[in-house]
Amino acid sequence: MSDDTAASTVPVVCPACETTTRVPLSEVADTVARHNDGQHDGRDVAHVDPAIVDRIADLAAADLGLTDDSE
Ligand SMILES: [Zn+2]
Repeated sequence: MSDDTAASTVPVVCPACETTTRVPLSEVADTVARHNDGQHDGRDVAHVDPAIVDRIADLAAADLGLTDDSE
């Protein structure tokens, strides 16, 4: 295991397995789907860390110029 914390990796949390796995952003959806399909009969158990989901949304919004703090 490497301790390398690349900014482009996202923590995938599975409460049932009590595991947290960092995967590249481009592989998150596939990793979650494969884990849930293989380990949990397709149930939606594993998921991206919610705190990171919010950050991804912020980054995406900023990138698109949608952050408007006019209020
Ligand atoms: Zn699991």
